[in-house]
Amino acid sequence: MKVTDHIQQAKGTLFSFEVLPSLKGKDIQDLYNGIEPLLEFNPSFINVTYHREEFIYKKLSNGLHEKIYTRKRPGTVSICAAIKYKYGIDTVPHLICGGFTKEDTELALLDMHYLGMDNVLALRGDPVKGETHFSPEKSGHANASTMVQQITGMNNGNYLDDDIVEGIPTDFCIGVAGYPEKHFEAQNLKTDLKYLKEKVDAGAHYIVTQMFFDNKKFFAFVDACRKAGIKVPIIPGLKPITTLKHISFLPKTFHIDMPEALADDLEKCKNNDQVKEVGIEWGIQQTKELIAAGVPCIHFYTMGKSDAVKRIVSNSY
Ligand code: FAD
Repeated sequence: MKVTDHIQQAKGTLFSFEVLPSLKGKDIQDLYNGIEPLLEFNPSFINVTYHREEFIYKKLSNGLHEKIYTRKRPGTVSICAAIKYKYGIDTVPHLICGGFTKEDTELALLDMHYLGMDNVLALRGDPVKGETHFSPEKSGHANASTMVQQITGMNNGNYLDDDIVEGIPTDFCIGVAGYPEKHFEAQNLKTDLKYLKEKVDAGAHYIVTQMFFDNKKFFAFVDACRKAGIKVPIIPGLKPITTLKHISFLPKTFHIDMPEALADDLEKCKNNDQVKEVGIEWGIQQTKELIAAGVPCIHFYTMGKSDAVKRIVSNSY
């Protein structure tokens, strides 16, 4: 079922979450172990992230280093199929522009279609680790909006190969990313919203936001979207802080601010257990306020760890 159908049929705020594919060499049971504790909350859908190749330097016997590329977390589409058919829950594979030609994109979408997936989250992806600028493949997409155009084209039966006439139309519900604190490359929120609208005009059906810790920023973002003419559902994304490392890692990696009150509480923490308690309490307050405001769904970034999300959801819904 499509994410937008789940939203339309819901009587209250839905619950969904996101997992990462297991590291190469690990069992898929690792992933299931992160999912199963959350099943009692009836997630409407589960997202699975996509991880492009990374460059690593391998030390050779002669002391030199060889630059090789590796994909540490493969399997997004097959994992989505495994989850969908094991638990009967809808899945949302993430699809990125980075490392994909338009042909690769079409083939990935066909796999999703054949496997019975109704949803896809269309993303540009970040620059390759160690590079400062995003570079598309020669015949790939430079931003998410042209990828959305391609998916919309397939939903209308248009394939890349001109010889295909009357191609079978796919029927994907397309999600895209939104940034309450703006995307880090955008000059300002206004230009970022202009490009977000471009994605919606290209056929995106809903938006999921980057994590944020200040609900006021989310509410202001939704207002700004509505003023810019963006009418599709906007799903807030939340991530519980659970470790001392998160305190600097999350703002640095995801270009988000921690509100003063949260930062003050975190500053007093001496170990991960104390951070986790602060993070969970903050997450509960954020979730309760978002539910009271009537958001359609709250999407939790579990990053494979379900216990903090479980405590937040069981104390808020
Ligand atoms: P875009 O919408 O293409 O925007 C990227 C930047 O370009 C923005 O600054 C925008 O303002 C600007 N821009 C857009 N269009 C144009 C244009 N026509 N001309 C000029 N500028 C333009 N990354 C992964 O690798 N894998 C994942 O699974 C993944 N999941 C994510 C899930 C969510 C909910 C979110 C919020 C992010 C996720 N990301 C993931 C990270 C995402 O790939 C990065 O944030 C990436 O840098 C931007 O992706 P986007 O789809 O928002 O890009």
